[in-house]
Amino acid sequence: MAYHTDFLVIGSGIAGLSFALKVANLGRVTIITKKRAPDANTTLAQGGIACVLGEDDSFELHIADTLRVGDGLAKEEIVSLVVRQAPERIYELLELGVPFTRDPENPEKLHLALEGGHSRRRIVHVEDHTGREVEKVLLAHVKENPNIEVLEDHLAVDLITLCKVYRGCPKEVLGHEQCLGAYVLTEKTGEIETFLAKITVLATGGAGKVYLYTSNADVATGDGIALAYRAGCRVANLEFVQFHPTCLYHPKAKNFLISEALRGEGAILLDPFGKPFMHKYDPERKDLAPRDIVARAIDFELKKSGKECVYLDISHKPREFILKRFPYIYETCLQFGIDITREPIPVVPAAHYFCGGVITDRFGLTDIKGLYAVGECACTGLHGANRLASNSLLEGLAFAHLAASHVYKEWPLYQNFKPPSVPAWDPGGAIDMEEKVLISYNWDAIRRLMWNYVGIVRTEQRLRLAKKHLQTILEEIEAHYWAYILTADFIELRNIAHVAKLVIESALRRKESRGTHFMVEYPRKNDALFRKDTILWRAQEPF
Ligand SMILES: Cc1cc2nc3c(=O)[nH]c(=O)nc-3n(C[C@H](O)[C@H](O)[C@H](O)COP(=O)(O)OP(=O)(O)OC[C@H]3O[C@@H](n4cnc5c(N)ncnc54)[C@H](O)[C@@H]3O)c2cc1C
Repeated sequence: MAYHTDFLVIGSGIAGLSFALKVANLGRVTIITKKRAPDANTTLAQGGIACVLGEDDSFELHIADTLRVGDGLAKEEIVSLVVRQAPERIYELLELGVPFTRDPENPEKLHLALEGGHSRRRIVHVEDHTGREVEKVLLAHVKENPNIEVLEDHLAVDLITLCKVYRGCPKEVLGHEQCLGAYVLTEKTGEIETFLAKITVLATGGAGKVYLYTSNADVATGDGIALAYRAGCRVANLEFVQFHPTCLYHPKAKNFLISEALRGEGAILLDPFGKPFMHKYDPERKDLAPRDIVARAIDFELKKSGKECVYLDISHKPREFILKRFPYIYETCLQFGIDITREPIPVVPAAHYFCGGVITDRFGLTDIKGLYAVGECACTGLHGANRLASNSLLEGLAFAHLAASHVYKEWPLYQNFKPPSVPAWDPGGAIDMEEKVLISYNWDAIRRLMWNYVGIVRTEQRLRLAKKHLQTILEEIEAHYWAYILTADFIELRNIAHVAKLVIESALRRKESRGTHFMVEYPRKNDALFRKDTILWRAQEPF
């Protein structure tokens, strides 16, 4: 028996929750999320949300900063659309009850932090655990809303589309392609069920887990990008992976990020021998240079010295200031025996943010009717080749709003839509996989391959080797996919493999260095040839 709803929202981070709250007046909303609801990158966000509120600031300055960091590929129309609505979205969060930190000098106003790449103080935040608070407040409102249901431990396996239902009949014959919902794995029963919806929203976040070292939550396996691509949507700019320069380096610390806000407040990067080095790579902005420059500088220093980490030092600031401004980072580092008020923090870069994703229009609509993509899984044109710090939570809020406003307008077209009868998931002759090592080995192999061959600094030779190795792994995964009963681990493995392939494919096509994509053979930008998105589409590039 299929499960019917009006809106199927896949993902419970800032984008999915915000969208759900906005459309709940129209009908029944079902949010599925593959682990516990707060397990999302949103919860991990520390720094804050970029928003023009300062007297010395302007929309034009925020737009200019975003475009500069986007390195020729951010779309001015979209940047302007997002930046100009930021104050409204922040006031909405305040109304919902997010306890943004106030300016100690003037508690009427919100405190504005400075982050790398921003020319003004414009980051609204809740101390250094902004995402956690935003997620908590949004979830509380979602849970109170009688029109919204949250189903935890439910993992979207694949989208259901008209063309699939009619057994591969092309959209040209059907007239159009439309999303009808998704096949969903329920962890508790191990069954794959059919979820049908009038409108489906991908809010599945990023794909940091494609890399061995990442700041991301375990759920960030690029599922939305893989699902949309397999369903026939175009994806773009997947070569632009932002590496956060400073994740805590400690054998027991998993994915703990040391926020850029530390450098905003005066922290200095030191090489393994205790010497500042950023002046060599960006003499003007030094430690406040954008992330890609800092990550490459650290990568270079590490390769040169053969050491395992560099250091970030804020210990010259007053202890009281550090405790008040960075309580979460202070406490966490202390758990690992590092007192950041007295000593530098060992740090390494890690995969942090996917600038590319599923192509959408200015309302978050994908190539498929009835399918929206919002938040980190989408490629809206806001970030271009690189993301300005703290613009991504804003993007999640802004596009949830834009998508919801589009849905309000289009609702009469969807309201009475009855999906055709959809076949139940057919496991065929699949059997239980007895040797889980088939999965764990390939998880590790892909993530290591991506880190070593498709990392911060790339070469054409390494990319080609990565493509070849990945192809072998992909063939093995595909051979097993229909042979064994699907588990969450296996589905995620297939998704990271597909996203990895898209990253490599995109990186090979961009024969220049731009934004976060740095190629040794092509160290410069080539505007004449490459001032355009790298677009991949299944019809041209079948797996
Ligand atoms: C450590 C860290 C710090 C950051 N700091 C900042 C910051 O200060 N400011 C800023 O602007 N950005 C920051 N970012 C980036 C920002 O947090 C993310 O880009 C943003 O939260 C993404 O929101 P989202 O709603 O798109 O996805 P997420 O918050 O990641 O949510 C994705 C959701 O989708 C679910 N999901 C995924 N696949 C499936 C599936 N197949 N089926 C069902 N559910 C699924 C997940 O379980 C999760 O609930 C940070 C990121 C990290 C990792």
